[in-house]
Amino acid sequence: MNLRIPGPTTCAKEALEAMSRQMINHRGPEFADILRRVTSGAQQVFQTKNDVFILTTSGTGGMEAAVINALSPGDSVLCVSIGAFGDRFAQICETYGAKVTKLDFEWGKAADPAAVDKALAAGSYKAMLVTHNETSTGVTNPLKELAEVARKHNALTIVDAVSSLSAIPCPVDEWDLDIVVTGSQKGWMVPPALAMISLNERGWKAYEEAKMPRFYFDLGKAKSYLERGQTPWTPAISVFFAMDVALEMMLSEGLQNIFARHARIGALTRRLIKELGLELLADESVASDTVTAVKVPEGVDGRELNRIMREDYDTVLAGGQAALQGKIFRIGHLGAVTEDDIVACVDALKKALPRVGFAPAAAAP
Ligand code: PMP
Repeated sequence: MNLRIPGPTTCAKEALEAMSRQMINHRGPEFADILRRVTSGAQQVFQTKNDVFILTTSGTGGMEAAVINALSPGDSVLCVSIGAFGDRFAQICETYGAKVTKLDFEWGKAADPAAVDKALAAGSYKAMLVTHNETSTGVTNPLKELAEVARKHNALTIVDAVSSLSAIPCPVDEWDLDIVVTGSQKGWMVPPALAMISLNERGWKAYEEAKMPRFYFDLGKAKSYLERGQTPWTPAISVFFAMDVALEMMLSEGLQNIFARHARIGALTRRLIKELGLELLADESVASDTVTAVKVPEGVDGRELNRIMREDYDTVLAGGQAALQGKIFRIGHLGAVTEDDIVACVDALKKALPRVGFAPAAAAP
């Protein structure tokens, strides 16, 4: 099957094989070795010397951990949203009692640092929360610039890098990002279950002051247990086995090579889609190299297209979320992805599109 959704992604075969191992004691020396190795590998992928914790939860759990370990009820925060996942960050902040100011940008566009600068200047914000790569629209935000603006206004930068980090550049130390979250089922080529979160000194200072309720996701507990080679609670041991192997593969491929591969495949996807005569949702200049959002042509039933792709061409695409439901379909291209996967997907589209009433452009290869 050609699983072309933006996560869970196809796992590395080696990672799946590693998961068939028998359980081990999560409070024993063997797990301690794995935890230390995986944590250090994750730090390399985050490009950080900061603490990184691996939590047994999905990406949303990691986002929640970021919020509750840094903020107190009543804190003013600026939530910059360019799509469904930006909205989710704001919802989490609201749920825990932060005073949320939402700065929305049109879906399909990136956040404008000048507008964020203006919004931050107009209030006194403890933090700016932002999505690095908005999976629902296929747009990558100018995170480096946004973090610079937040720092200028003394606001923490809290980043959802769930569908970016490990696939496209997100150098945490170089961009001085305070708290960053990502998830295992995206670029890391392993199943869902692990969220990774980094905190710098400013993040820890915020932790000391933060009063939102926390228990399972208390990063102070995670830190004290990590010092003993443990996690506070029973971890998803099998996924740790997978992550151990996948990290070895990633580090031997090399981060720069991984980024170059995603950039190449992102560009290839966009070129082939346009050659079919289809339109991209995002502007090329901000289009994501991990997921491409394609407009469903006028008069075409997007759900029917995805059904035909799945049932007749063994290719699984993602639909649109929230306001974009039925208006776009999305092609995931992160993790263990090759050019051949994309060419096969576009070939399938070429056959499926006429069946839903759209004739691909004559020039399509
Ligand atoms: N943020 C982004 C940018 C995502 O792409 C996702 C997953 N699609 C999430 C957050 C949520 O992650 P999860 O579904 O693992 O909770």
